[in-house]
Amino acid sequence: MTHSLSELITSLAPDAIAVRHHLHAHPELSNEEEQTSKFVAERLTALGVDTLRTGVGGHGVVAEIRGNQIQTGQTLALRADMDALPIQELSSLPYCSTKPGVMHACGHDGHTATLLGTAAALTQLRGEFTGTVRLIFQPAEEGVQGATRMCLAGVMDGVDRVVALHGWPGLAIGKIGTKPGAMMASSDTFDLVIRGKGAHAAQPHNSVDPIVIAAHLVTALQTISSREVSPTEAVVVTIAQIHAGTAYNVIPTEAVLKGTVRCLTNELREQIPVRIEAIAKNLCAAFRADCELTYRWGTKPTVNDESVNALIEQIGQEALGEGSVLRLLAPSMGAEDFAAYLDYAPGCMFRLGVGEEVTNLHTPTYNFSDGAVSVGMEMFTRIALKTLTSERAA
Ligand SMILES: [Zn+2]
Ligand SMILES: [Zn+2]
Repeated sequence: MTHSLSELITSLAPDAIAVRHHLHAHPELSNEEEQTSKFVAERLTALGVDTLRTGVGGHGVVAEIRGNQIQTGQTLALRADMDALPIQELSSLPYCSTKPGVMHACGHDGHTATLLGTAAALTQLRGEFTGTVRLIFQPAEEGVQGATRMCLAGVMDGVDRVVALHGWPGLAIGKIGTKPGAMMASSDTFDLVIRGKGAHAAQPHNSVDPIVIAAHLVTALQTISSREVSPTEAVVVTIAQIHAGTAYNVIPTEAVLKGTVRCLTNELREQIPVRIEAIAKNLCAAFRADCELTYRWGTKPTVNDESVNALIEQIGQEALGEGSVLRLLAPSMGAEDFAAYLDYAPGCMFRLGVGEEVTNLHTPTYNFSDGAVSVGMEMFTRIALKTLTSERAA
């Protein structure tokens, strides 16, 4: 069967690659994935999936392919994201974005095409597995809201395991990257408004200068990572924006700092806003100013289940060959809203190599490689067949 599975994937890959090119040429921003969603639903209908839901959590699409004995079998969810980014594509690809200022710079065109290709394979393999494969096509990953909305719409009800992949530049085609435990960080954002007292810039003694306080605060907040959290634990507190002032000769009344916090554990994540607020309030008080913190919880850390990760590593070795599975030494402090699904069932995200020469994610020349599509399809299909065996259902 191994041989015939590879042949099946090879025969289906050109269509999946054509799908990717179509999606790449017609990108849609987060929460605007209307045409992409319609396209995906039409393809799934044509494949003859057993169930189909559209308009899930926004423009999400969810389908099921049922194998044997669905009553006693388990359910595996496979997830792809569909949204693009507000970046002007700078490439001469024949399927370059047709939409000014919008492009698939994170490779979600590749993820969607890979999952549609996997659906094509699995509809032909119903006799080979027991249970249900649920295909989740999610909107709005880039704003890290889509996954939560999909979960609230019930897409994880009855799911035993959930798996996703992300195309990864710098990793050769035919290789995958794995990581048991924490793989990606949480991502939260905050606004800090410092309220002082404005004055003529030549009379600073009449002011409570929020700009000077902001400068102190930027430095003080860095002591969270350097002096409050153990050096062996990862945390990022980045001030990414400072806004204050309108003229050369005016001390403004307010300064606004905006930033992001990244952690690898939920325990640490919960402590950070408490410390940001205490440092900000007390430092502002020392300088006779007030401050207000607005903290927005984004996405949790993505923590891969050890046993699902081990299964993916084993399948990767078998399908792609010795040396094709590279275990990551360290997690990334980037974030992924796939974390939301892991609240409902154990699961795992792995990295799919798209080539060593490929430019970085979120850049104007990024392009998910055609050669990676069939590798992703083969991994997803094998994960489904291996997970949904009759022994597990027994
Ligand atoms: Zn992205
Ligand atoms: Zn992405």
